[in-house]
Amino acid sequence: MIKKMMYLNDKLRIVAALTIIGISTIGISTQALAAGEIQVTLLGTGDPIPRLDRFGPATLVEVAGQELLFDVGRGATQRLVQLGIPLREIDAVFLTHFHHDHLTDIPDIWMTGWIPPPFGRRSEPFEVWGPTGTESMLNHLEQAFEANTKIRIPDELLPPAGIETIAHEFDEDGVVYEKEGVRVTAFAVNQGELIKPAYGYRIDYMDRSVVISGDTRFDENLIAAAQGADLIIHEVALASEELLASSEQFRRIVAHHTTPEEAGTVFAEVDPKLAVYTHLVMLSSLTIPEAPLASLITRTRTNYQGPLVIGEDLMSFIVDDRVSIYRAAR
Ligand SMILES: [Zn+2]
Ligand SMILES: [Zn+2]
Repeated sequence: MIKKMMYLNDKLRIVAALTIIGISTIGISTQALAAGEIQVTLLGTGDPIPRLDRFGPATLVEVAGQELLFDVGRGATQRLVQLGIPLREIDAVFLTHFHHDHLTDIPDIWMTGWIPPPFGRRSEPFEVWGPTGTESMLNHLEQAFEANTKIRIPDELLPPAGIETIAHEFDEDGVVYEKEGVRVTAFAVNQGELIKPAYGYRIDYMDRSVVISGDTRFDENLIAAAQGADLIIHEVALASEELLASSEQFRRIVAHHTTPEEAGTVFAEVDPKLAVYTHLVMLSSLTIPEAPLASLITRTRTNYQGPLVIGEDLMSFIVDDRVSIYRAAR
């Protein structure tokens, strides 16, 4: 909920920090979400690299009083506490695929959300939606941390139900979650032959919609699933020509993701009110540095001229009849 957040009253800094074109509103809000609004907050915009400025991939969607978490990358638990959102209030977790950078904070949010401090105290099972394989992973986590569970229940008088897990698996495109007018639809994306299953998600509420790409190459199925979306949160990989020429491994990594030019084509075909980059795969080697962030914009612009933002951790978007950008206080 936006009322739980504080925002920097620092418009100049926001404008300076972002590359924003065509955005109608940038500012501060302390209002509760109005009926029909969707708020999206980037908890982590990074990839497997343990960098401090971009935590692992995780995106929070708040809508109709529900807290939906898409992927649980490194630091997602800390970001939620940073925003003042008790961990027990996460109603549903959605997984895009099984690359570890999207999953590593699941044990933390699951177990830390159960312990007695105010940010914990979950007394209901931890529920996760994801492709086939989700249940097996949760069962193995329960097994891996069995000793912790057995200690804490009698020692801290914790409710056993709060550490149970429930998996909701799916293996094809379609609606996977529907509650009080909020509908979440999974759609297959393409990260390459060896990286299956892989899905993106679309969230619809009243006449608003948000699409989260998950990890994907350029994929027509995503373009079809994203038609009419107000906000698209999309992954991207950026590597210099020099780096790509230097190693087959880098070429393989980039082939699993979307280039800025390809993302530009996706955005042009979807025509959202705002396109946002997350999961920035910024490749470098010991001798070849990362390509400059600004080139992400210029390369996207070869195919797309509409509203575009490079996401940052804790950047937040409110979708109503337009999309507004905020930044939570750190
Ligand atoms: Zn990833
Ligand atoms: Zn991946």
